[in-house]
Formats: sequence, C-alpha cells, structure tokens
Amino acid sequence: MKFRTVTLEQHDSDVARIARELRDRKSTRPLSLRKKVTSHQVPKPGDKKYSDDKIDVSCLNRILLIDVEGCTCTAEPGVTFIDLVHATLPSGLVPMVVPEFKTITIGGAVSGCSIESMSFRYGGFHDSCIEYDVITSAGEVLVCTPDNDLSLVYHSLHGSFGTHGILSKLKFKLVPAKPIVRIVYERHTDVESYRASINAHAEKRDVDFMDGIIHSPDLYVLSLGHFVDSAPYTHTYNWVTAYHETTALRSEDYLRTTDYFFRYDRGVTNVYPKSKLGRLFIGPFMGSSNLLSIAEKIHWALPKKNPMVTVDLFIPISRFHDFMNWYWKEFGAHNLWCVPYRPAQRYAWLSDQFYSGVQDDMFVDLAIYGFHPHDGRNYYRMIEEKLREINGVKTLISYNYYSEEEFWQVFHRENHFAAKAITDPRNAFRDLYTKTCVASQGRTSTM
Ligand SMILES: Cc1cc2nc3c(=O)[nH]c(=O)nc-3n(C[C@H](O)[C@H](O)[C@H](O)COP(=O)(O)OP(=O)(O)OC[C@H]3O[C@@H](n4cnc5c(N)ncnc54)[C@H](O)[C@@H]3O)c2cc1C
Repeated sequence: MKFRTVTLEQHDSDVARIARELRDRKSTRPLSLRKKVTSHQVPKPGDKKYSDDKIDVSCLNRILLIDVEGCTCTAEPGVTFIDLVHATLPSGLVPMVVPEFKTITIGGAVSGCSIESMSFRYGGFHDSCIEYDVITSAGEVLVCTPDNDLSLVYHSLHGSFGTHGILSKLKFKLVPAKPIVRIVYERHTDVESYRASINAHAEKRDVDFMDGIIHSPDLYVLSLGHFVDSAPYTHTYNWVTAYHETTALRSEDYLRTTDYFFRYDRGVTNVYPKSKLGRLFIGPFMGSSNLLSIAEKIHWALPKKNPMVTVDLFIPISRFHDFMNWYWKEFGAHNLWCVPYRPAQRYAWLSDQFYSGVQDDMFVDLAIYGFHPHDGRNYYRMIEEKLREINGVKTLISYNYYSEEEFWQVFHRENHFAAKAITDPRNAFRDLYTKTCVASQGRTSTM
C-alpha cells in the first residue's frame, strides 16, 4: 500500500519557485531559511542569522509518499517528527530514529544532528536516509545518493548546518513498530558497569531502545525499551511529572509508542517550570517548541556572558570513564542524558585526523542541558579542550569557541569545501566554521 499526502506536481512547482528565486537573486548578503516551526538550535544573542536575507521554504513541510511494503517514506524537509510518527504508526512503521522533541524537522535532523534511543542500533536519523534532493545556491536541483556521482554531497549533508544548499526532499527507511513500549530501568553505581552493560546490550541486540539518565556520580540509570502489543497500564509525561526523574524511582514503565518517542518533549533533564506546583499550572504549555520560540523572539535580551550550557557531546565509549571523572570535578552533580550511538559508517564530515585517534565504533552522546555556569568560567570552551584530549565531538548546536585551525582538525575541511563548490558556489550560506563559530556569535570576521 502506498499513501500520498500531496501531489508530486505541487512539490515540484514549489521547488521550482525556490530554485528560481535563488537563480534570480542579485544580493550577495548571506542567506538563511524561513521555516514554519521553531529552530532547535540554541538561540544566541546577536546571531547573524537573525539579520540575514531569508528564503521562504515554509511550504516544504509535507509527506509525499509512504511505501508500506518497501518500508520507506519520501517527505519534504519541514515535516516534523510528531507529524511523521502520526502518519506512519497506523501502518505499523516508524522512522529508525526519532529525536526527542516533537517539532524537530527531518531536514533539520539531517543538517544538524539527530540521535535518540534507537541510535545504538541504527546511528542517526541521517543514517536511515537513502536519497536527498538539494537546491544549490545557483538554483540547480541535485539528486544525491550514497553511490551516484554526487555521493560526496550526500555524505557531507549531515552536520552541514545548512551550508550545503537547501534540502528539498528526503527518502528514508522505516522500521516495524508496535503500539506500546515497555521500559525497564537498570541501575548502576559506577560508570564502568554502566559502560559494560551498554556494550553488552548493543552486542546482543536484545532491546529495541536504549538510553539513560546519569543522575549523580553513584546513580547511572540505563533505560531499556521493548516494543510490546499490550500493557497493564500506560503513562504520559506531559504535565506535572518530569519523565527523567521517574527513571530513578521506577523499575519499569509502559508508554504508548508516540508518548515514548516524545517523553522528553518538555525538556530532557531541564524541565520547566522546575517545581511541581508550577508544572501543575502551566506544565502542558511548556513543550520544547514553546520555550525555544520565546527565546528566539527575545534573542536580543539573552545574556551575552556565561550563557547556560546546552549541548550534546559524542564521546568514544572507551573514554567514557575519563570524561565522567572530569565532568563530576568541573560541573558538579548536574545530571546528564546518555544516548549510546553507533554511527552506521565513518562520516565524511569528520577529519582523518579525528578518526586517527578513535578506535571505537560505539560512542555515547552525553547531553548537558540547562547547566548554569556560576563562576565566570567559559564551560563551552572547557568542553572543547577536554574533547580534544579524548577525541570527542561537540555538536555545533550552541556556542562554539574553536579557533579556525582547531575546528578543521575535527571537521573535514577538504570534503566540506569540495561539496560546497557543488552546492553553494555563490557562498550564500557561509562555510561551516564561519556560520557556527563566527556569525553565530555576532561576528563578521574570524579575527
Ligand atoms: C535543547 C536541545 C535539545 C536537543 N536534543 C537533541 C537530541 O536529543 N537529539 C538530537 O539528535 N538533537 C538534539 N538537539 C539538536 C537538534 O536536533 C538539532 O539542532 C537539529 O538540527 C534541529 O532541527 P530543527 O528541525 O529544529 O532545525 P533548525 O534548527 O531549523 O535547523 C538546524 C540547522 O539545519 C539547517 N537546516 C534546516 N532545514 C534545512 C533544509 N531544509 N536544508 C538545509 N539546511 C537546513 C539550518 O540552517 C540550521 O543550520 C537538541 C537541540 C536543543 C536546542
């Protein structure tokens, strides 16, 4: 059975309009996208993206085809994961990776990052993608696959943060799903036994989902999920109770599959309001997109110094122990979200120098969300320095302080600019360093 929710003719005509605007564009000012839903980049005061020229891609938010027999979906980049899950689950299928916030879009997930509790098995959402259509800054439409003559562009799109043109269509794999997820909580008192358990479950593939909350130096909880057909009860976590807190208290839980995917939608470890009383009154209105859209609107008023730390870090699992020792010393007892992550392949956007120092094929994504620096130190910079020592990768979703030289030791300069020559010959979308480390901090030059 194949479901279409919009005609391909409509899609083609919208893409042709965007391509035409790019071809006809005379301005040499940098260009950013206007989307329908809020961005899940950490808002930064002075980010140059707020004053860039805009190209409107908000119409590209439709599912084009769900091929139930072939287990694939073709969709436009502005489709949100909540809409996608609602569309595929009735046919017993879901995306291979569903990021934890309802309004993250599939295009944003590929261009930024996209991991969750199925990542120990499948990698990131981008690892499930088979084909991308990309509109270049010169207004050409390219079809990129892992094996065609545009394979470098295909492999460079993940983590490119919009610097390689505009993704206009994605085809990706779906996997079978059941209506409910049963979660069992496994408690560990130290990082070594936690790491051993992650490795063992990943090796045996005896669970469908694996993530965890690190509550304190002596409480590491691993949350192990299985799809099931029925349940004695089900819970939702969209009001007073913060899901992450329950992982320290319960031995098991049952959630409907959609509620499971978005169990952290009101924040992973930083749910607002902080108090139960506050959540009783306004909890249901404080989903991730509500908070981010408020912050986006008042970006100019955000603190310029000592910003709150919100960032995901990919740590090679053999260095997990080193990182945690350092983390407890520097950050104190701020809890962390842990997502085991096995990338499906060696990524073209990471440098050879980076890979020469990494033996592991398994990483853990450690998410530090909502840490308030209290002593004037630049915690983002401290993280960058620590990751250099242990060969970790800091996602570029928030504040970045790398020098240009350091940056290209981690990210793949040659591949980036080779792909860029094809997708953004006019440099309308900035290069990756300029966009994420310079313009995002309100600067125009690297000096
Ligand atoms: C608090 C917080 C928690 C997060 N938690 C997670 C998590 O658990 N797991 C995870 O994987 N990620 C997480 N992220 C990161 C998030 O998934 C990425 O930032 C993702 O890129 C956001 O997608 P979006 O749809 O909001 O895209 P946007 O924020 O709108 O865009 C992200 C980037 O992609 C580019 N882009 C968007 N659409 C297109 C397109 N059509 N063509 C080309 N470029 C495009 C934009 O220019 C931008 O640079 C988190 C982020 C925050 C702020």
